[in-house]
Amino acid sequence: MADGSHQALSKPDNSPPPLDGNAMVAKALARAGVDRMFGVVGIPVTSVATRAVAMGIRFIAFHNEQSAGYAASAYGYLTGRPGVLLTVSGPGCVHGLAGLSNAAVNAWPMVLISGSCDQKDFGRGDFQELDQIATVKPFSKFSAKPTSIKEIPSCVFQVLGHAVSGRPGGCYLDLPSDVLHETITESEAEKLLLEAESGWPQPNAIGTVGCSEIEAAVSLLRHAERPLIVFGKGAAFARAENGLRKFVESTGIPFLPTPMGKGLLPDTHELAATAARSLAIGKCDVALVVGARLNWLLHFGEPPKWSKDVKFILVDISKEEIEMRNPCLGLVGDAAKIMEMINKEIKNDPFCLGKSHPWVEAISKKSKENVSRMEAQLAKDVVPFNFLTPMRIIRDAILGVGSPAPILVSEGANTMDVGRSVLIQTEPRTRLDAGTWGTMGVGLGYCIAAAVASPDRLVVAVEGDSGFGFSAMEVETLVRYKLPVVIIVFNNGGVYGGDRRSSEEITGLYKDDPAPTSFVPDAAYHKLIEAFGGHGYLVGTPSELQSALAESFSARKPAVINVIIDPYAGSESGRMQHKN
Ligand code: ADP
Ligand code: MG
Repeated sequence: MADGSHQALSKPDNSPPPLDGNAMVAKALARAGVDRMFGVVGIPVTSVATRAVAMGIRFIAFHNEQSAGYAASAYGYLTGRPGVLLTVSGPGCVHGLAGLSNAAVNAWPMVLISGSCDQKDFGRGDFQELDQIATVKPFSKFSAKPTSIKEIPSCVFQVLGHAVSGRPGGCYLDLPSDVLHETITESEAEKLLLEAESGWPQPNAIGTVGCSEIEAAVSLLRHAERPLIVFGKGAAFARAENGLRKFVESTGIPFLPTPMGKGLLPDTHELAATAARSLAIGKCDVALVVGARLNWLLHFGEPPKWSKDVKFILVDISKEEIEMRNPCLGLVGDAAKIMEMINKEIKNDPFCLGKSHPWVEAISKKSKENVSRMEAQLAKDVVPFNFLTPMRIIRDAILGVGSPAPILVSEGANTMDVGRSVLIQTEPRTRLDAGTWGTMGVGLGYCIAAAVASPDRLVVAVEGDSGFGFSAMEVETLVRYKLPVVIIVFNNGGVYGGDRRSSEEITGLYKDDPAPTSFVPDAAYHKLIEAFGGHGYLVGTPSELQSALAESFSARKPAVINVIIDPYAGSESGRMQHKN
């Protein structure tokens, strides 16, 4: 007996070691096609990250979940696949809500994965305890919580599938620490993975649009006197650029991109109505709106900005969105597919406005007038810098890069407003800005997402000093991962710049404190990145800015260019002054 048991103990065991929950999560993510993750590790998810790396997933470790979440949301937009954010429990999950809510509001696919406390200790004040499923509810399309290791594969596949199906958005996966410590055999894990794969909800991108609706849309456009096509980041997400170009070039209908729709067709295209925006939206009689909501960014589609008689044709993946806006005609479905159907219908009986059409001529004339007025302002070298002079120099440097064009990240008040009209987008999905929510603090996260999603492109951020400050510590992340990102900070010493209070407002016990809008003047932001071995530049003149851009763009290494701007240039709240 003794001999026998000794033999059993020393017999080599050829079966693979069991997997724990961490490895199961990593394996399921990899099998579902996840190739990048963003996050901050800690209890109980550190091993989820290290296992994911071992499975070939690139994990980008941040300082703050908020920035990592913004990165995950933008990664979803840029790639069309859910961006994944990993956080610890409780406060980590709460910080991650910034990214999840941003994804929900922008309609971008993302999955927040948070560790959570031991199931048996929930409700007893466990470490970082929080009812995370309830917390994420307003921003999550679909949430899942495996209660045992066996449920991990199906939960992983479900949240990833729901994030991209229908209107894209944020989903949530909760990982209790006890589930992460359970184990399972390799063969059982394999069986569960196969089951999960076959049950994965596939993205429903077809929609319900029929031939008669397409015919009705084309008929409205054909008989319009002043037709316009407007497209937004939903069309960019759908990769509808080829269909949009074909439509615009075959019909001669002028187009207007929303801020993140810029680049689907080049801003320099002769049918671009961007520089004649007020005329285009104020006078058009039929507007085909593709993947863009008639929300505040488009003045709700209402007078006085739009004509009261305008007929809207809305193309959107979301039936609810179309029903809510009650347009003349709604086409529910994927923007790329619907543009293809529209183009096919037009091809049967082509029409084209032509350059001498009064509407096309009016838009072109107005555009040329506005562009030449703006160019006259831009041509001046104003020092100390206003917003226009450095923006012109940056525009020319970005255009000088050629193709593939850099991805531009833009945030701020005046910086973003001026940047939107001056900087030129020539390729699709090359502009990331504050988006539907006007979210400030997205800059560094977006830069990191862009660099990771498109390693062949340079990433250039043009940000206000306030926007930069939200996540400035992530410059260390840029240096650590050696990302080709150049951050240009428009440093005017605060939110909106200098102290704009009237003397009557400067009163009270703390009147000697700096204004709520003020930061330390001339802050040395360029030195922040030098602390980690990146390149910093301090510039105050056109030639200094030109040489900093030339050097940093060709080096393709992390850099911060601190551009000192006149604190009293620009206005409070930029374009949104009436709301502040
Ligand atoms: P913008 O800010 O550029 O105006 P919005 O975010 O307001 O854009 O609107 C984008 C719209 O695109 C959303 O209503 C969303 O439902 C829609 N959308 C998302 N994906 C697709 C798709 N594949 N096809 C058509 N519409 C889409
Ligand atoms: Mg500022």
